[in-house]
Amino acid sequence: MQNQRFVHLDFKGIAPCFDKVHEWLLFLKGCGFSGIVFEFDCRVRWKTWPLAGMPVYSPQEAAAMVADAEKLGFETIPLMQIQGHLEWILGEKAYAGLRENGKLTLCPSSQEARKKLAMWMCELREIFPHSRYIHLGADEVDTIGECPNCRKKLQQVGRFGIYMENTALFCKKALAMGFRPLIWADMILQEQKIQLDTSLPPETILVNWQYCGSGPFHGMESLQKSGFEVWGASSIKSFWHEHPRMLLNYPQDRLINVAGWNQFEGNVIHTFWGRPGNKGCLYPPWPMSVPVFIAAGNPDCWRKHPWHDKYQKFGDCLRRNNPPEIQDMIRELDTWPCTSTEEKECVTYLQLGLRYELLFARYCSCRFSQCATDASIPFVGKNPSVYHEHFCIQKEKIQEELDILMEELADFFTRNGLIGKEEFIAEKRSIFLL
Ligand SMILES: [Zn+2]
Repeated sequence: MQNQRFVHLDFKGIAPCFDKVHEWLLFLKGCGFSGIVFEFDCRVRWKTWPLAGMPVYSPQEAAAMVADAEKLGFETIPLMQIQGHLEWILGEKAYAGLRENGKLTLCPSSQEARKKLAMWMCELREIFPHSRYIHLGADEVDTIGECPNCRKKLQQVGRFGIYMENTALFCKKALAMGFRPLIWADMILQEQKIQLDTSLPPETILVNWQYCGSGPFHGMESLQKSGFEVWGASSIKSFWHEHPRMLLNYPQDRLINVAGWNQFEGNVIHTFWGRPGNKGCLYPPWPMSVPVFIAAGNPDCWRKHPWHDKYQKFGDCLRRNNPPEIQDMIRELDTWPCTSTEEKECVTYLQLGLRYELLFARYCSCRFSQCATDASIPFVGKNPSVYHEHFCIQKEKIQEELDILMEELADFFTRNGLIGKEEFIAEKRSIFLL
């Protein structure tokens, strides 16, 4: 079962409502992926965590999605977390007792925490009755060994020892439940503990996520020497610095990364993130990434795709951020041939995203000019009519256009059955301090 290409779907951000998931599964099948990693995170009404999350799917609906994916021929993998990235649970007062020294990382010494995680794994087994693998996350654990119980262990086994004891424990529990465990490899790479003289079961698979560049990817060689099976992970969508002020991401970075990982002789998970973390602001909706899904699922198909060169040009235009060129690109997008609803909605979204870029550029120009002009007033005085025209009237016009654009964005969300509409619109409005 080598050279499988999985797509990871992170539901914690914007995601399709239950009724729209089937269409996405069909689209992803058409892209050529062989499996799906489902990270339901805070979006399922878990029996284990009744007092946390922002649920939109019942456990029955989650199980129906998984069954549907399997019917279409996908291998399915659940993803849960066992130490870090549980802020959506630990942020709730009801679960404060599970925190590591009051911080939003799980305390691995807490018996209650272990019991809850085991319950959660059982719940996942019910939703994924046929899955051969489970992904236990275990990445980016930032708080280790701070509570009184963990501090004692810290002296004996160190940070990595505490981390690894918990990770190994849940890898073993997964095996006992018939799941082969996967974990992200960043903690192992960070601690440079590749020669793992630990209790980690030999069946454990290390997943090396590297979201920049085209390879050779950091850590691959040393991880492969460890004797454990190693998979790679690209990113179809993950953090970029300008993300809070944009509706779009820079496509080339993503295309280069997924193409680089598709060269890898082994299994790859193409990740698709919903937010930078549980408490971070939203990444854009799924339709934006249609071309990168195609490129990740089947590089040959993407090479021959009528959008291949056009999308490069689009990416260059976005990077240059030159308003007249963006205006032309908005018109040019009308001519892109679309053979599916997903492609059609992608084009619509790219146009909305470019219009937002134009508006943001106008806003910055107006705001910064006003700041500098205000600073110059004590030196040169004020021309009230010009000031009013350039700043007050201009801001009113920007506000009107922003209202129209946000209404169209809301329609886009409604038409595509996407969750997260109110939050995304609030975020994208928030940067305009009009
Ligand atoms: Zn602790």
